[in-house]
This record gives sequence, C-alpha cells and structure tokens, in this order.
Amino acid sequence: MAYVISDDCIMCGACESECPVSAISAGDSKYVIDADTCIECGACAGVCPVSAPSAG
Ligand code: SF4
Ligand code: SF4
Repeated sequence: MAYVISDDCIMCGACESECPVSAISAGDSKYVIDADTCIECGACAGVCPVSAPSAG
C-alpha cells in the first residue's frame, strides 16, 4: 500500500523534494501522493512537521 497524506497537511512542501520517486505533488488543499508511484520508503513521513503522511 502507498503512503497517504492526511488533511493535517499544512502544504509546507518539505516532503516533495524528499521523495526519491517524485510521487508527491501539490494538490488543491494538501499535498498528494501518487499511489502507483510510491515505493513506501517513508521519507515523506520523516520530514513532515505535522506527521501528515502515513502508510495507507
Ligand atoms: Fe515518496 Fe517514499 Fe513518501 Fe512514498 S513513502 S511518497 S516513495 S517519500
Ligand atoms: Fe504537507 Fe507534511 Fe508534505 Fe509539508 S511535509 S507538504 S505538511 S505532507
């Protein structure tokens, strides 16, 4: 299962550049992860200040 970003996302953008497969992009109200691209490395969760990404 891919990681998922919750509504807690404050759109700081920190996770986007940390993703090794560029699966993260800015959505309308939060950043979003492309489930087909995510390799579940957990890097996004490691840098997020509000722990918004979690393993789906
Ligand atoms: Fe990218 Fe890893 Fe986060 Fe998946 S878990 S979105 S591969 S940083
Ligand atoms: Fe949102 Fe966390 Fe990514 Fe920042 S690091 S854009 S708060 S998910």
